[in-house]
Amino acid sequence: KNRIDILGTQFDNFTEKQFHQHLDYDLDTHANKFIVTANPEIVLSARKDSKFLKIVNNADYVIPDGIGIIKGANSLGTPMHERITGFDTLKYLVETANRKLLKVYILGAKPEVIKATAEKIKHDYPQVDLVGYHDGYFKDDKPIVDEIVKKKPDIVLVALGYPKQEYFINKYRYNADAIWIGVGGSFDVFSG
Ligand code: UDP
Repeated sequence: KNRIDILGTQFDNFTEKQFHQHLDYDLDTHANKFIVTANPEIVLSARKDSKFLKIVNNADYVIPDGIGIIKGANSLGTPMHERITGFDTLKYLVETANRKLLKVYILGAKPEVIKATAEKIKHDYPQVDLVGYHDGYFKDDKPIVDEIVKKKPDIVLVALGYPKQEYFINKYRYNADAIWIGVGGSFDVFSG
């Protein structure tokens, strides 16, 4: 795979449009995919946590979330196309789910934030089949994973902050064929 190395993290080098074309294809074929949107904090944290680095580099897509990554790539002499943020990817996935009438499960953030996120999706993207949601402050993974398996979502959006969300996705992604993405604090912004 053609990836660009920034301090050990292996980034995909797409334009946002190319990335979206890959996602469209993945959704149409109901592929199992794991997206990491890596900002400079994630790169630095992966540098110190080899288990986390391995999880990041084993993801299907590692996207440069932040101008710091683009600048870093330029100064290392391996320029990348453009920044692609987690927030914009979240929006693209929800818009695409609305267009293609897909099933979405959302996990993470505080109870009031995930509820507001669910309400925003229902109101602004009425053709999304929102199959379930849960806040990000739970002790037992099992009931949540069981629900995801039962509801068969096309897309699972996980907002537990890094590295927790990437550990969670890496552990459970093969229980359900979907596009899985860690979206950090995006629900706090999206719902507001
Ligand atoms: N979060 C969560 N469970 C946790 C820790 C964090 O659901 O155990 C949520 C938090 O409410 C926020 C998101 O994860 O919506 C991102 O958290 P934070 O800002 O700490 O992480 P970052 O954005 O740096 O990944």
